[in-house]
Amino acid sequence: MSDVLLAARGLTVRYRARDGLFGGGELRALEDVSLEVRRGETLAVVGESGSGKTTLARALLRLVEPSSGTITFDGQDLTHLAGRELAPFRKRAQLVFQDAEGSLDPRLTVGASVGEALAIHRIGTRAERATRVEALLAKVQLPADVAARLPHELSGGQRQRVGIARALAVEPELLVADEPVSALDVSIQAQVLNLFTQLQRELGLTYVFISHDLRVVQTVADRVAVMYLGRIVETAPAAELFANPRHPYTRALLAAVPRLDSTDAAPVLRGEPPSPSAPPSGCAFHPRCPQATERCRRELPQPVRVGVDHVAACVLAEPAP
Ligand code: SF4
Repeated sequence: MSDVLLAARGLTVRYRARDGLFGGGELRALEDVSLEVRRGETLAVVGESGSGKTTLARALLRLVEPSSGTITFDGQDLTHLAGRELAPFRKRAQLVFQDAEGSLDPRLTVGASVGEALAIHRIGTRAERATRVEALLAKVQLPADVAARLPHELSGGQRQRVGIARALAVEPELLVADEPVSALDVSIQAQVLNLFTQLQRELGLTYVFISHDLRVVQTVADRVAVMYLGRIVETAPAAELFANPRHPYTRALLAAVPRLDSTDAAPVLRGEPPSPSAPPSGCAFHPRCPQATERCRRELPQPVRVGVDHVAACVLAEPAP
């Protein structure tokens, strides 16, 4: 059995802009993304807002159609499957949303919401589903009486736990979590991150963890992929990335971390990301890169292996010996 659970090759998602948006052109949400997610690991995907992280999360789960490229899960090519053909995959891979409140039906009790996931996949009798819901709530450390409550009666942290319980209901192997703690207070974030870690250990889960927050990523990730304007610009084991970032964009993101709560410090990362409908020529980061040269305006940097399991797409990256 391969240690790779999920793989993307050359994954590209482009949208045609409507109603005069983006000059009526094409929106390049994801460009030529290749990555592997290994069984039992947490691959974190980081980048600023608009870097394509959420599109990647949805494309990996076949919730948006790729324009080109392939996705394989446990050795099976999913790229051209549709409708019912995707049902077995839908059971094995689940999405955890940022906005747990928005993802839960406000009219359904917690018990009904979590049980609904089981009913959709025709798992168990009604009585068996009720027992399973109770066990799932315990698994995410919620008291059993939460089952009778409505989403608006819960705290943000409790709602996110319900969202996780709902995702776990069908016993998936992969969770793709899209900014799952960014709407929570810092103290609650830590509790929910601990829960993710504990569940991974207990259930052998594999995670793709999307976050703009490097402090969050540092606590959960085994490996990190850094995205800029729809492309992956650096991947590395988490400890290596934080100790020895090789791409100027990663370095700028890391340098900005201590300043996140500061109101008076100037941002380390200058300027705004460019529009995905009109990406700059060559390296898309060149208008903001302190090390950019004329070459960067002309040349699209290719991924270079700069160390063990460490790849950076920058013309300055020196290949590992
Ligand atoms: Fe900066 Fe050039 Fe490297 Fe892009 S290719 S990150 S512009 S040095």
